[in-house]
This record gives sequence, C-alpha cells and structure tokens, in this order.
Amino acid sequence: MANLADLISAAPGDRTAIILPDSGLEITYSKFRDQVFSLADSLASLGIGPGDRVATVLPNGLPAIVSFLAASIAGTAAPLNPNYREDEFKFYLEDTSAKILLCPPDGAAEARKAAGGKIPVYSLEMDETGFVRIAGAGNGRKSPAPSDDGVALILHTSGSTGRPKRVPIRHRNLAASARNIVHHYSLAPDDVALCAMPLFHVHGLVASTISTLTSGGTVVVPSKFNPLSFWRTVRDCRVTWYSAVPTIHSLLLSRAGEERPAGCEGLRFIRSCSAALPPEMMAKMEAVFGAPVLEAYGMTEASHQMCSNPRPPGARKPGSVGPGTGVKISIMDAQGNHLAAGERGEVVIQGPNVVDGYENNPEANAKSFTNGWFRTGDQGFLDGEGYLTLTGRIKELINRGGEKIAPREIDEVLLTHPAVAEAVAFGVPHATWGEEVAAAVVLREPHPEAAILAYCKERLADFKRPKKLYIVETIPRTATGKIQRGAVAKALAGAEG
Ligand code: AMP
Repeated sequence: MANLADLISAAPGDRTAIILPDSGLEITYSKFRDQVFSLADSLASLGIGPGDRVATVLPNGLPAIVSFLAASIAGTAAPLNPNYREDEFKFYLEDTSAKILLCPPDGAAEARKAAGGKIPVYSLEMDETGFVRIAGAGNGRKSPAPSDDGVALILHTSGSTGRPKRVPIRHRNLAASARNIVHHYSLAPDDVALCAMPLFHVHGLVASTISTLTSGGTVVVPSKFNPLSFWRTVRDCRVTWYSAVPTIHSLLLSRAGEERPAGCEGLRFIRSCSAALPPEMMAKMEAVFGAPVLEAYGMTEASHQMCSNPRPPGARKPGSVGPGTGVKISIMDAQGNHLAAGERGEVVIQGPNVVDGYENNPEANAKSFTNGWFRTGDQGFLDGEGYLTLTGRIKELINRGGEKIAPREIDEVLLTHPAVAEAVAFGVPHATWGEEVAAAVVLREPHPEAAILAYCKERLADFKRPKKLYIVETIPRTATGKIQRGAVAKALAGAEG
C-alpha cells in the first residue's frame, strides 16, 4: 500500500517532474514537492482536515496538479470540469459537500457564482518561477501525512438512473492503479509523457500524470489540447508517449494527412483509452505516426486502467482492449455466473485499484457488486488468451469523445421547460466524437426547436447539451410498449441502439 505523498517522494530532487510548454517552465521534483507540501499546509491552515472536500475548477497546468496532490494530502480533492454551467456547479459543490473552492485568479465566473458566498473561494496563483500558492493564505499549520486508506479523490460517474454517483477513490486505489500502469508500460525515469486529457478525469490524472510521477519521469502539461502545436511540443520536449481518446487521435490524424510529423521518432508507444478505437484508425495511426498504438480500457471506479494491449513483442489485437493489467477480469451473466471464453456477458473486475463502493449509495452498491466482483455495466467477451473485447453497454451512457453523459440528466433539464411534456435523450453516432447528444420531445404547445436548444445551452455544459432535437407526436416505443433509448435512437436517427 502507499499514498500519493509517498509516490511523489521517490524521484531524485534534481530531475524534471513537470514541463509547462506554454511558458517554457521546467519544475524539478524538489521544487514540485516543496510546493505540494506547502500548499497542503496552507489548506490545513484554512481548516481542511482528513476527508474535507477541496473543490477545484482549473484548466490543465501546474496549479491543477499541485492543488490535486495538496488537497488529497490535507483532505480530499474534488476537481470539477471548468466547462460546467452555474446550476451544474451548484449541484457538484453541494453534492460533494465542498468545504472550499479553489479557482484561478481570473475566470471561473460560473463556479464563483455557484459558490454564492456559502462556500469560501480562494484564488490559486502561480508566480513567474512556477510556484503555486493560495493568495493570502499562510501555512502555519502542518498537514498530517495522509493515510493509505484515506479518500484522496472524489469524482462523479454519470449514473444511468438518478443523479451522478459519487466515487470515493482512496490513496491505496490510486497507488495500485499508478503502479499497474507503470509496470504494464515499463515507465521509467527517462520517459516523458504528454498530458493531452483534462485533469478533472482519471484518464489525465492517473494515466498521464500520477503514473509518470510515480516512475520518476517527466510530464508535459499544455493548458489545453491544441492539434496545431501538439507535434511541436512532442518534438521540443522529447515526448516518449502520450495517452488520449480516439477523438483526439482522429484530429491529429486528419492534420497529419499521410505525412509523419517530426517528433514521432521519439515515441515508444501511443495509448488510446476511454472510448472505442476503431481498428482502421489504429492501423492508420501506426502507419502515419510509426509507433505502436495500445488500446486500453479504463473507468473511474477502477481508478482508471483495467486492461491494456501490451507493448511489442507482446501481441496487440485491434478491436480488443487487451488483457487485465494487474486487475482480474471476468465475464458474468445476469445471475452472477462466470462465463467461459468466447461467451458474451457483463465485464466484472476485481483488484486493489477498484473502489470499495459508491459514497452513501447502498442501492447502487447492491447493484454494482456481486460476490466481491464489481459490475462495470460494459458488455464483452474474453478470448482464450485473456484479451477482452467490448461489445456494448448495459448502462445508459452517452460517450462523447470520452466524456460520459447520463441521458437522464438531459431529460431532466428538458422536462423543466414549460412547453415540454415528454423528453428522451440518446446518443447518435458521430464521426469525430464517436457519439453526440440528441433528444426527442413531445410538446404541450408549439414551441420553436431553437428556443428549446437554447434553453438547454443555458443550463448544461456544452458537451452535454443536445445538438439535435426531434419534435415528435409520441415517443417511439418497443413492441412491449417500453421506452428504450436505443430503440428511440434507432427509430428517429437510424442509429443502432
Ligand atoms: P469513465 O469513468 O469516464 O472513465 O468511463 C468509463 C467507461 O468508458 C467504461 O465503463 C466504458 O464504457 C468506456 N470505455 C473506456 N475505455 C474504453 C474503450 N477502450 N473502448 C470502449 N469503451 C471504453
């Protein structure tokens, strides 16, 4: 077992922990650790103790990483997506019982409004040398060392029924996950990872950042993904691997055309996770970028990685997410029987990276665990060599470029509109995003489609709002009279549900 404070403490102090390509700053491990522990002390001085939630609303960058680690040491980190609207922030701040909110000195207006004077808001500042502090806070009180069992991070998963579920991820879960990733890809101190994914999600936090810091390597952190400067950063920072969702891979591929971008020669591998990677895209990436592409399978409740294809000489199988990586994988039927190789069923997992359960949600926990196995809500089968292929989802989620959206949340917003009598949101296939959000509504009275879409825009983060609305007389039902989102999608948008 271990905790995040231990994980970041192993590397020699003079090695580079973080490169910020936007400003050209390079932060050594000793400077990095100094500011993490000093910020943890500032949080303790502001009254944060074990278990107290520190909400953060930050773009990718040094403040996001330092505040995540400091909050997990002094209390519990609760990073939020900066793209949320005020109502969404209100929900998340209240649901996590945030004790304080950390924001950049400028911006985060919606989050600040949502805190509404009820939750103290502090600005995180970074000076020109790359040192992050809370403006106006002292650090007189020492934060105690975190316990391995303490909740380091609290995230939400989009539950298919009801509101999002809280996932408490303990230090020991994160440590196990980071070590699995380090081991599986043989990450070493001379590796340089580029973090292309947001730091409010386990993909960017665990796969790119914590794993790299655990291995004593360097993580390059641009403030946002930019396909125009991506390869320049890869080349200039001597990046050896990066991880991203297929949407990002596809944007990079279309910019590159047939030409291999300079910088690719330093790549040991490229990792793809969080949504299905089409085998044709994988083949094209390998041909153009000249590096092995390893598809992985991750989820918040598993502190990210469950499976991954191995690096050569191990076999990578297109269309498969690979074997379990320090995580036991099995396939279960609805009755809880384990199925044989080749048989389709629900993917279930076991391992020290898997959370003990959702927070304060006995109903979800009863449904999600069977005989000590966590039910992922994904469907698939294992082959004779233990490689997993995902074939579908039991849970109702829209996966838009790796961002998970609960369709129920969209229904609820639509139903608050006075003209809407019935609403059903669903995912439709999309060339770049994988899936995009659409919805069908039955109206009480005539109302323009654009006005309803605009209503959603005010209340939902951009990635969640429906881009297409089907105004119908009745919601299409299955033969047995049930409303099934897949069937609605198929009837209205021709999508395979
Ligand atoms: P999240 O908790 O946001 O990481 O989402 C986890 C979910 O993303 C999983 O339960 C899967 O439904 C989906 N997912 C993750 N990796 C893959 C993959 N390689 N292929 C298809 N779906 C994936």
